[in-house]
Amino acid sequence: MPKLRLFTPGPTMVPEEVLLEMARPIEHHRTQMYRDWLKECTENLQYLFQTKSTCLTLTGSGTAAAEGAIVSMAPPGRRVLVCHGGKFAERWRDVCRRFKIDHVEYEYEYGRGAGVDVVADHLKKDPKIGAVITVHSETSTCALTDVKAIAALTRERDCLMMTDCITSVGCLPFKMDEWGIDIAVTGSQKALMLPPGLGFVAVSERAWKVIESFEAPIFYNNLRAFKKSLADWDAPWTPANTLVRGLRVSLSMIRKEGLENVWARTARLAKATRAAAQAMGLTIFAKDPSDSVTGINTPANIDNDKWRKLMKSRYGVQLADGQGQLKGKMVRISHMGYVDDLDTLSAIAAMEMSLRELGYKCEPGIGVGAFMKMVGA
Ligand SMILES: *Cc1c(COP(=O)(O)O)cnc(C)c1O
Repeated sequence: MPKLRLFTPGPTMVPEEVLLEMARPIEHHRTQMYRDWLKECTENLQYLFQTKSTCLTLTGSGTAAAEGAIVSMAPPGRRVLVCHGGKFAERWRDVCRRFKIDHVEYEYEYGRGAGVDVVADHLKKDPKIGAVITVHSETSTCALTDVKAIAALTRERDCLMMTDCITSVGCLPFKMDEWGIDIAVTGSQKALMLPPGLGFVAVSERAWKVIESFEAPIFYNNLRAFKKSLADWDAPWTPANTLVRGLRVSLSMIRKEGLENVWARTARLAKATRAAAQAMGLTIFAKDPSDSVTGINTPANIDNDKWRKLMKSRYGVQLADGQGQLKGKMVRISHMGYVDDLDTLSAIAAMEMSLRELGYKCEPGIGVGAFMKMVGA
């Protein structure tokens, strides 16, 4: 049995320090101890999101947090513009549909970021739009949207800017306050080096005014309930305190490395992975690639399933398939969280060796060599 090396864009590998911390005996949550943990985590989340605003810790995966945020920020009369060009953004559109939120859609090409000019046009033409939903790094297509530029458009009027930062916060440059983002959402199992189970929502003062103006049709992930409890460093319902305990450790690891250094590491791994793929004669799916996850097109005549299964069974390297219409057409490799140069190099080597075994023609070591030239010497 080879050692498992998890390169899926969520869940990602969890450091041993975090695992050991979570193995400790269970504590009760209505205690000073838990309040101290939550206070410490909230302050470190503010650093992570680069904000002075409230950061809420919810129980549930990223979808729970995003659903809570979308439903809470869309009172009747405030139309939402959903920008979608991938599976995750389509999910936020589906949340709007399910909750019968008044919304308009802007659909863009898979592999691209949302067009800033198109968003500007929508805003100009439709004065009822009072909120924009974007996905910063669309994990399904591995593409990046310029949310900073889109946020700037929303600052010119009474319009909230919500961003799914599930694969950007803690791995790609993201500055909530400086960029003028009102609601930013992430989850625990991507850049935060934790198992799945926690969702995070950072909320600006501007957004709270809207959220507190009406009673959103949501109970469990109700942002107002979480804000109220957070005033006493508490949670409205039983929190996943084992994960919060791990969060303390993972956030302090990020603080210790320094956010800028984490961003630089992620970018370096992405750049070297793209170079390795190109050297092997492979192509990158996204035209506007994100640095947190790379999507590599499966070459013609190679069975995607066989390739991924061989990488996993022989080398322990687990990559993700494409999603939705991209299923069977690409492999996705994460650069988020607890992953370094040699980890990623091992994934490149596994890709190369297994492709060759399946009959793909490339010189052994060509991808590994290109990777090495990019990160070292
Ligand atoms: C993973 C992911 C989600 C969904 O989060 P879950 O934790 O699976 O609920 C949403 N958006 C993006 C961009 C993601 O990468």
